[in-house]
Amino acid sequence: MARSVLIIYTGGTIGMMEDPESRSLIPFDFEQLSHQVPELTRFDLVIDAVSFDPILDSSNIQVEHWQQMARQIESNYEQYDGFVVLHGTDTMAYSASALSFMLRGLQKPVIFTGSQLPIGVLRTDGKENLITSIQLAGMASNNTPVIREVAIYFGSALYRGNRTHKYSTEAFDAIHSPNLPALAEAGIHVQFRTNLFPVVSEETPFSVQYEMDSRVAVLKLFPGIRKEVVQGICSTPNLKGLIIETFGSGNSPDLPWFIEELGKLREKGVFMVNVTQCSEGFVEQGRYATSTSMMELGVIPAADMTFEAALTKMMYLIPQCGDVETFGNQMLTPMRGELTSYSSLV
Ligand code: ASP
Repeated sequence: MARSVLIIYTGGTIGMMEDPESRSLIPFDFEQLSHQVPELTRFDLVIDAVSFDPILDSSNIQVEHWQQMARQIESNYEQYDGFVVLHGTDTMAYSASALSFMLRGLQKPVIFTGSQLPIGVLRTDGKENLITSIQLAGMASNNTPVIREVAIYFGSALYRGNRTHKYSTEAFDAIHSPNLPALAEAGIHVQFRTNLFPVVSEETPFSVQYEMDSRVAVLKLFPGIRKEVVQGICSTPNLKGLIIETFGSGNSPDLPWFIEELGKLREKGVFMVNVTQCSEGFVEQGRYATSTSMMELGVIPAADMTFEAALTKMMYLIPQCGDVETFGNQMLTPMRGELTSYSSLV
């Protein structure tokens, strides 16, 4: 029996074409997918498509849309062998990270893709991204899917979704995975790095955690940051989690007022995570004296997690964790390949 792939179209540039009259970009009807991409009929795969209504520029993605994506996957999980999520590139790394946590016990491919140029224009990168994503989502070896995680295929490379970051507004390889090599490179052949594939437990049944707590905030440090700014963020009502975007390997000012503000959050039981502003490397609290205060305040180092992964993992963990200690342990435990264990980094 032919394998099957479900395309979930959420929006973004990929699903657009030029209106012949106005010449502006309009979304095309996804039921007409094979009209736009006639190559799809050459696959030995059953390919179906469902579309969000309304479709979204990915800058409008909210928690409810991650839940909608997860619901589509859950309700079609038995029926299809793989899933391709078409998504705008702007927040694709966030959605792929969020879904990687929400989908527990995933044994099938969920491949996000999109494009820099719409599928309906001449130099589009969308066709190749779509065709190869479908191919990867339908691939099996001994009837077992080759990819069994949430990934992003973009610009000839397949990345672990929760390791990615949109780095370019211009380049066709707009998505990067700064701290983990690509899972596969698509040249004439698709070359997999199977040593990076996750160990998937067949015993864990597939399930979805829909609850993602967005009562979080981000404090991005910069030289000259004023007390009122820090106070404003730290006094956000109902705050449950704070990501502090620090300098270098996790350093922050050690000014008394700064430590005092974060200390108040600590007392309130707000979970705090230290993410570096560098796009590569990892947070190592205690390496410089300017990060010892982070340690003393019980701020959890995000190790080599991307900002996107740390933020969405925080949203995923808040509903599960009653205290800072449990949260810290969970945050530092690799769950979906999103971080390298701390002891092997230092
Ligand atoms: N603004 C668009 C979006 O993220 C860009 C894209 O599709 O890549 O939805």
